[in-house]
Amino acid sequence: MIKKANPLSSRFLDQKSAVISMARRTRVPAIGIDLGTTYSCVAVWQHNRAEVIPNDLGNRTTPSYVAFSETERLIGDAAKNLVAMNPTNTVFDAKRLIGRRFSDPLVQSDKELWPFQVVYGLDDEPMIVVNYKGEEKKFVAEEISSMVLAKMKETAESFLGLTAVKDAVITVPAYFNDSQRQATKDAGTIAGLNVLHILVEPTAAAIAYGLDKKFSCPVEKKNVLIFDLGGGTFDVSILSMEKSVFNVKAIAGDTHLGGEDFDNRMVHHCAQEFKRKHKRDVSLDPRALRRLRTSCERGKRNLSSATEITIGIDCLHDGIDFHYKITRAKFEEINMDLFKKCIKHVEECLADAKMDRRSIHDVVLVGGSTRIPKVQQMLQDFFDGKVLCKSIHPDEAVACGAAIQAAVLTGQGNADVRDIVLCEVTPLSLGVHVKGDTMSVVIPRNTTIPTKKEQIYMTGNDNQTTALIQVFEGERAKTTDNNLLGTFEFIGIPPALVGVSQIHICFEIDVNGILNVSAENKQTGSKNSITILNDKGRLSSEEMERMSREAELFKAEDEQHRRRVEAKNALENYINNMKSKVKHDMNFTLNLTYSDKKQIEVAIEKANLWLESNELAGEDELKDKMKQVESIVIASMHSGFRGPRIDEVE
Ligand code: AMP
Repeated sequence: MIKKANPLSSRFLDQKSAVISMARRTRVPAIGIDLGTTYSCVAVWQHNRAEVIPNDLGNRTTPSYVAFSETERLIGDAAKNLVAMNPTNTVFDAKRLIGRRFSDPLVQSDKELWPFQVVYGLDDEPMIVVNYKGEEKKFVAEEISSMVLAKMKETAESFLGLTAVKDAVITVPAYFNDSQRQATKDAGTIAGLNVLHILVEPTAAAIAYGLDKKFSCPVEKKNVLIFDLGGGTFDVSILSMEKSVFNVKAIAGDTHLGGEDFDNRMVHHCAQEFKRKHKRDVSLDPRALRRLRTSCERGKRNLSSATEITIGIDCLHDGIDFHYKITRAKFEEINMDLFKKCIKHVEECLADAKMDRRSIHDVVLVGGSTRIPKVQQMLQDFFDGKVLCKSIHPDEAVACGAAIQAAVLTGQGNADVRDIVLCEVTPLSLGVHVKGDTMSVVIPRNTTIPTKKEQIYMTGNDNQTTALIQVFEGERAKTTDNNLLGTFEFIGIPPALVGVSQIHICFEIDVNGILNVSAENKQTGSKNSITILNDKGRLSSEEMERMSREAELFKAEDEQHRRRVEAKNALENYINNMKSKVKHDMNFTLNLTYSDKKQIEVAIEKANLWLESNELAGEDELKDKMKQVESIVIASMHSGFRGPRIDEVE
């Protein structure tokens, strides 16, 4: 018997009310984080609107970069700014790795383009290898993403003046599969966040757009297509919006299509040009490659407004300069197949939603790469010249939507957001492997979630007492062509002839799109069922705990480093200040004897030499040295005291 679930099940409402009561007790705002491939953004619901929180440099988006060096760990702008100096230890694109296996062909092809090393880890897990403080360190993608998330958390904490922000809604591309969603949630946990909800990016953008429009057209029902082309991923999603109800009709996309692919094409093109002109291969030089990539990305952005730009890099490789003019037309030509792919996904999404392009009221652009004129033009042509909506900020809408959803879930929003109801869908079909390498679908793709579906399976052999249940996701008929999510053995089937014993398999997807599968034998009346959560690419609770502890340790180390740098700066400033006082400040030297002055000069010079030969001195050593020099200076100032003190002179 198949039990049909109500899409907006009571579980969802229960979860919402539990979260609300928890947040009412604390009143600490929940935040929304758009964890992007290239940039991340954090926002909070404040003053009756979603506000983007600027980082310590005042930037509203933060590069999703983490750099490791001999002395410190850097996250965000600081890491990205130094990438050319330390390419092999600067990690980015963790989102392209998260929840994937090392053997995944996409990981294999990306690996070739990254200047940092990715190696095979236990259970086919990709491990990122860096050199940190002189030692080789290996990280899984979740850990790198957790560092970016921790930075966003800190950004929010310093903006809100709170010591701890805990609750967060994190966004993922709509096409992220179960492992990728789970892994993103794990990254949040490692960062010390309580992940309230994993929200898909286009839906987040739709919420931000819907709220923006609510003020101008309150009740109209609209079909909206969100076209979200970011740094690493592409999502297209169709929603129907009516009052506060956001009903996702269909999603399509590619977790591996975005601005970085356009950059790669440009890098490849320029590398070939360099080879053609100079007969040398820059692709074997990580530093040159990194510099080329940075210039290409900048050039690509400029090509959105200019029709021709020059990529100019001095001493790119083997001392040879690279100056190359590239036109917008050339850029479009080398990326045309990728742009066409985007339009194909729009067609698929319309077909899945069983809609005609004319039934779409608004086409909304989200993601930095939607600024590319050719992309806009192709999309506009596809929709018969419809004016595209650019009213929401392409880089910030997703974080704002996440912040709104965080406010909804914690009961912190106003009347505009309190009643928002989200009905999301599952991106891929889910099912089990049955005889003949066949995928038996239990939950078809684009089913509204949360959902619970059950199907009955028979034993395939006489006297079969166990069954291996393999859970897959994907649209192909053969399971071997789909993606294995997890496996478990069901035991305790009563021996019987083939096809007599039954196994009830239940698939349940929660509001975060995370899947639980259980199996049960009802013939014996036994109700015990086994539940599996996707185990591929998942971290065990022990691993999560270890990573959380390490994250704390890293945070403490960063803090220690910050204090050390402060102590070093203080000593350097003191030395420079004293040097200049002794040399130029008559008021200061007026009351010093020759020998006192000499003593100060010697103490300062010695401290300077000590600093030069103790580059890596610790905070305590630096502070001790500071005290030592200060006491010599003070003693000299007082021992040589001859006349009235300067502050006593009228
Ligand atoms: P997002 O993930 O939405 O932050 O998008 C980041 C991507 O947008 C990066 O690949 C950027 O290079 C790209 N991007 C940002 N601004 C522009 C622009 N003006 N033209 C083309 N691409 C852009």
